[in-house]
Amino acid sequence: MKHFEAHSAAEKLAYLQSIYHVDVLPDWGDGESQWKDGTWSIGELDKLDHAVTLLANAMGGEDRFIQHLGGVIVKKREMGSHGGEAMQHRVSFSNKGTFSSWTVIHEMTHAWDANYGWKLSVELEKYTGGFTNPLLSKVRRFSGEWDAGRNGLESATGRRGRLRGCNKAGYFYGDKPSGSNWNFNRKEDFAESVSMYIGWQKDNDLSEWAEKRIKRYLLGNGIKDNNFGVDNWADYAKYFYPEDGDYTKTKRWKFVDELMRGKIAAV
Ligand SMILES: [Zn+2]
Repeated sequence: MKHFEAHSAAEKLAYLQSIYHVDVLPDWGDGESQWKDGTWSIGELDKLDHAVTLLANAMGGEDRFIQHLGGVIVKKREMGSHGGEAMQHRVSFSNKGTFSSWTVIHEMTHAWDANYGWKLSVELEKYTGGFTNPLLSKVRRFSGEWDAGRNGLESATGRRGRLRGCNKAGYFYGDKPSGSNWNFNRKEDFAESVSMYIGWQKDNDLSEWAEKRIKRYLLGNGIKDNNFGVDNWADYAKYFYPEDGDYTKTKRWKFVDELMRGKIAAV
């Protein structure tokens, strides 16, 4: 950001701190001899604020957000090909390019899960009828029901590891997630489920993406989706496309809804 934006950036930071206990570490400011732009823009601070507000509102307000996350430090840093990363009290975004509102919710949800000893994703796994079993995954690898290479992920149609148990973690998801790939596990499932819940059929920054994640399964096999590439979408529909295309009919939506309403014991 530019020098003339410093004042409004400082106001934004103070606001995020006081309302949500979200501390953004600035990479901009007065350098040794001249102003340092850093990588953040005012627009990104606004985007962060809006997304945090969406999550806090779903939780029941800013006090619940503070209680659930227990304070978060947000920064940008070098992280290879990842767009974001999170652990307890910490969320990072890549210092290359920008981040989406979806990524904010996804990473904040990881920080929430982490603040509860990663038990929220365990609850989601149980509630949806899934389980994690690397040994059974290995058995599958050599006996069919496997949509990846023998050595794991292949970047090709029908080889991205979307089937139950066909992933690095040996995660056998239950019910119908909005998608799965080689890196899917219960933590990613929880973060994506909360993001889907926030966006689904609302009119916010996540809504279009939430709809696109479901609509791709209406495509035929081998058809290219502009966001998700080519895959055998029709074949995958039975694992991911919700009843009547209505995501609120999935166990994930119901779990997150109950969690947000304080009806899940772990919280
Ligand atoms: Zn994640």
